[in-house]
Amino acid sequence: MDYTLPEFLAHAIALEHEAAERYLELADMMEAHRNDEVSALFRDMVRFSRLHHDSIVERARGVALPVLRSWQYRWTHPPEAGGEEAFDYTLDAYSALCYARENEARALDYYSTVGQQSSDPEVHRLAAEFAAEETEHVQALDDWLARTPRPSTPWRDDPQQPPSD
Ligand code: ZN
Repeated sequence: MDYTLPEFLAHAIALEHEAAERYLELADMMEAHRNDEVSALFRDMVRFSRLHHDSIVERARGVALPVLRSWQYRWTHPPEAGGEEAFDYTLDAYSALCYARENEARALDYYSTVGQQSSDPEVHRLAAEFAAEETEHVQALDDWLARTPRPSTPWRDDPQQPPSD
């Protein structure tokens, strides 16, 4: 993946756009479940992805971007989804967070790999910067996962926790 700067910018814009769209879906879904906390987290992630997207678009101003043939930036299929692009509306908060984390980790992986393999110093620099942002996203999701109960566990490992219904 020795991208030129225009190739890299095009992929990064597509990746952030995709992330914003998926987070919006996840946020709506959690809202439908009346899980306002996790919904708010996903709305934050929508905002971060859009801010990032917009700043990359700004950076790409005046650069002729290639049309992408790669689908590498797309999120993986949602868990237990009936079809492509559709979420299972019964998805619980824990699984939604896991799913988001998996995709953030992929983005992190993607940016770090590109950064390491690129011979263009600007691509190298930007990719490292973006990878650092994704590291924060993964961390944020890990923090939420740590305080989100796992679904359908047959026992409660934390007796302090109030019973859920
Ligand atoms: Zn991210």
